[in-house]
Amino acid sequence: GARIGILGGGQLGRMLSVAAARLGFQTHIFDPSLTPPAGHVADRHTTAAYEDAKALKAFAADVDVITYEFENIPTEALDILETIRPIRPGREALRVSQDRLTEKSFLQGLGLRTAPYADVTDMASLEQAVAQIGTPAILKTRRFGYDGKGQARINTAEDVAKAIADMAGAPAILEGFVDFSHEISVIAARGMDGQVACYDPGENVHRDGILHTTTVPARLSGSQRLDAVLLAGQVLNALDYVGVMGVELFVTSDGLIVNEIAPRVHNSGHWTQNGCTVDQFEQHIRAVVGWPLGEGERFADVVMENLIGSDIARVMQLSQDKHTAIHMYGKSEAKPGRKMGHINRITAHKA
Ligand code: ATP
Ligand code: MG
Ligand code: MG
Repeated sequence: GARIGILGGGQLGRMLSVAAARLGFQTHIFDPSLTPPAGHVADRHTTAAYEDAKALKAFAADVDVITYEFENIPTEALDILETIRPIRPGREALRVSQDRLTEKSFLQGLGLRTAPYADVTDMASLEQAVAQIGTPAILKTRRFGYDGKGQARINTAEDVAKAIADMAGAPAILEGFVDFSHEISVIAARGMDGQVACYDPGENVHRDGILHTTTVPARLSGSQRLDAVLLAGQVLNALDYVGVMGVELFVTSDGLIVNEIAPRVHNSGHWTQNGCTVDQFEQHIRAVVGWPLGEGERFADVVMENLIGSDIARVMQLSQDKHTAIHMYGKSEAKPGRKMGHINRITAHKA
């Protein structure tokens, strides 16, 4: 069988490795840390920095195709890798999603709706942006933000100075606050033949900026559900995308607004592990090796809950529930805010 190279050895890389192994593929993880979660389950692991050209070349030469579990891979590393092996999903998806400004203009270019936004580089441009967009608003770093990090809420004019200080000089965008009723995401996949498969949208609840639960089915009308899935397909087709993508959406009284896209398997898609025949991890591996995609049909109602930091103390208690599947990431240290594992609780079986 082929060997799949995965950039990043966190829990997503780990679950991709497990899925690859199940399909008969070997995996090779590239991750700077000595003991990444994926390191325990992958066939090989290169411990090197993304700046290490020699290590990148050896890694690429050892695999047949390269994929990734996070979108912030340095461009220079990708330049080296892509001369040796194909990178899937491709460069365009990474370019668009690495920068919130590029991402928003791409989405609007497709005719999709986003929060109103403006480019912010300094105090003067922030003041101008606040005047244009109004409050409440959120200032976000353009790059490298995740789990709500690199964000500052602006409710009044007094928050402006603190918000700009929080950005520490990093390029940012100001987003108008979307008055949503709830948040959903579509986990969608596109194969090498252009076939698209979407999972049923999940409803997401965040706590302290971190995803707390995803519930399927989400509260959506039939037409909202169709809108969500069609919109996700449109994004994938526009990028000539190969692999799984997470599309985060706000549900409002006058339609769906796109929050952000993630060119990879997504935390809000973990429910598929116990709710679908082919889960998002197998789907992603199928896509990047050129296999046909699974259908994505859901056979259960599921609540996924992240186990964050000290939540792992509850694992033994959670294991008493016979309808709860437990997924642990093998991380030794339970720091606050650190994703240690998740559970998928089956709440109903579909007929
Ligand atoms: P992730 O871990 O999903 O990558 P992130 O750090 O990239 O998160 P966002 O998804 O942009 O951050 O924002 C985190 C959460 O903050 C959103 O899921 C939503 O609850 C809230 N939020 C972000 N932007 C807006 C907005 N413009 N209006 C209202 N709420 C927002
Ligand atoms: Mg994000
Ligand atoms: Mg998000």
